[in-house]
Amino acid sequence: MAALDLAPLLMKPLLAGLLALLLGEPGALPASAPAEARPVVPVVPVMPVMPVMPVTAEPAAEPAVDPHFDVSGISEYNLPPAPQAGCEAELSTAGAVFKTSSLKMHWNDSHEFLCGAKQVVRYQRGPAKIRYGSSPRVTCAVARALLRFEAIVQDEAQRVFGRPVTTIEQMGIYNCRQIAAYAGWVSQHSFGHAIDIKRFTLKGGREISVQRHYGRGPDAPAHKEGQFLRAVADRIVAEGVFNVVLTPNFDRAHHNHFHLDLAAYVVDGT
Ligand SMILES: [Zn+2]
Repeated sequence: MAALDLAPLLMKPLLAGLLALLLGEPGALPASAPAEARPVVPVVPVMPVMPVMPVTAEPAAEPAVDPHFDVSGISEYNLPPAPQAGCEAELSTAGAVFKTSSLKMHWNDSHEFLCGAKQVVRYQRGPAKIRYGSSPRVTCAVARALLRFEAIVQDEAQRVFGRPVTTIEQMGIYNCRQIAAYAGWVSQHSFGHAIDIKRFTLKGGREISVQRHYGRGPDAPAHKEGQFLRAVADRIVAEGVFNVVLTPNFDRAHHNHFHLDLAAYVVDGT
């Protein structure tokens, strides 16, 4: 469970925009223009600016929240995810092994936001035959994303090592809380709508650890483990498997795991 600091992500485009205006780049008027003709420098909003790129929501089968919870005033980004019609059927058709489960919806301790979700499964395994150290209890949407994630994992394991992954160690799913470094934003872990992944084990026992092998900076490490982890993370983003992908390159809090979630905004933290 980790803190998440999105401020640097947000500040970069905002600062670039301000600089473009101040330096007279294309679209901005020269600094010598009369004051009244100069563009007004936009006020930088403090909150809420996190949704860099909103995700187009799929039509919900039913409301995300029962009417007896008064959620007026809560940002849509802080609400539990809406159930997805046909999601369990898709898992079954794909050959996944799972049980329907629940994460009871309830207010957090200070009654500011809701935790829990309506459509939750205890996910055991998919057709990629990867076992989890402990079976994730996640939203059905996350379980469905795990099927695509595991297919990528097996693709890349075969390509890089010539053998499959048998086990994935995850660090946590559910935790009713705000994002530690970003007050006012509710963690997707509050809805079982996120998973933290720390280690992969190949057939034969070789271990690939996010902490030890992901490396830092834009370039993948030379070793196979690093090549594998970078390729997996890049493909999760490129193929839109999860909306938020945070890695050791994102911040200190993610030095030892991938945080993957299906928030209604996109963050590429690879
Ligand atoms: Zn996480």
